Amino acid sequence: MLTLRGRGPRRGNSLSQLGIVKDGAVLVRDGRIAAVGPAAKVEKLAAARKAERVDVAGRVVLPGFVDSHTHLVHAASRAQEYELKIQGASYEEIARKGGGILNSVAKLRSATSQHLKWSARSALEVFASHGTTTIEAKSGYGLDVASELKILSLHKELSSEQPIEIASTFLGAHVVPPEFRGKARGPDEYVKLLTDWLIPEVASNGLAEFCDVFCDRGAFSRAQSKQVLAAGLRNKLVPRIHAEQLTRTGATQLAVEFGAASCDHLEQVNSSDIRALAKSETVATLLPGCDFHLGLKQYAPARKLIDAGAVVALATDYNPGTSPTMSMPMILSLACTQLRMTPAEAITASTINAAYSLGRHSRIGSLAVGKQADIAVFEVEDYREIPYYFGVNTCWLTMKNGQVIYAAA
Ligand SMILES: [Zn+2]
Repeated sequence: MLTLRGRGPRRGNSLSQLGIVKDGAVLVRDGRIAAVGPAAKVEKLAAARKAERVDVAGRVVLPGFVDSHTHLVHAASRAQEYELKIQGASYEEIARKGGGILNSVAKLRSATSQHLKWSARSALEVFASHGTTTIEAKSGYGLDVASELKILSLHKELSSEQPIEIASTFLGAHVVPPEFRGKARGPDEYVKLLTDWLIPEVASNGLAEFCDVFCDRGAFSRAQSKQVLAAGLRNKLVPRIHAEQLTRTGATQLAVEFGAASCDHLEQVNSSDIRALAKSETVATLLPGCDFHLGLKQYAPARKLIDAGAVVALATDYNPGTSPTMSMPMILSLACTQLRMTPAEAITASTINAAYSLGRHSRIGSLAVGKQADIAVFEVEDYREIPYYFGVNTCWLTMKNGQVIYAAA
């Protein structure tokens, strides 16, 4: 049993400390962990004798994965673009043919809430079947008032209708929508719509906890990103940021300046960005699924970030354009082989550190008394086999608040 006990977030060497208990047991009461430790001790407790028993002998037990970066609600896959990319089409060529994020925007705007909800719900079941118990979900494929509110309302509805916890993020600043393109002032007018109207509307309706911005070539400039994050903060939305994915824009420094909860992607960071993150509380969230799916060779410098002392987390970036996966175990495999993280570091990055980036580390992310009984069980003998097997699902059981939400047949 990997308890991940101790304080979060974890930096440097402490990412390797999984708090392993051999022959462990967890006692759950009312959805929370009432006791955790060696089975011989836990089983002696009076409450344990009356408890319903789930025998997981011979398997590995750990906190449920926290997937801190997803674009959950979208209308359709972009499999056609996937094929075009494999055949050598550039991102710009695909965009000219009506592809890219704007392709997803067009599809989302014409989709019904019912269809979007059905598709998100199916995805959530797949997340659960891979050991994930909490996700963050971003809007950003609507990019007009009605469609963005539609996505965020779905986050809220799904939170109450199915077991996986959803932390909602407003990403109106994903790209400039089509109706604001082609005019010199268009992008700034869209930013003004976000800061003066949509962000206050989202916040006053309690539709998001976080405000995110895609600061990169072809998306938003540093100055525009600053306006969006500042408007978010004025409305009590905590900043997150898509930073240094395609080009280095200085978005990491902006994230640190704003005390962002998380700074995500980071393929293009330089050494001063790494130092700034290491000295901050901002989590460096790495998304290797994205580079893998796009066939890119440059992954984020995880080793340098960890060795410098940054708080590193891992997430799927589940989205139809660049990372169509709900599997945290697959992300762990990529973190090990491509980012050179050890299996222990990858597990810490996907549990307690990811929980910290969502402001939930006192409730989830480790197995400790008083925390939610969010638990994943894998059909493996050694935790290193979770990333070692790739492209196959070894998850055996997933529990959310003490309830079984997935069991292998
Ligand atoms: Zn993203």
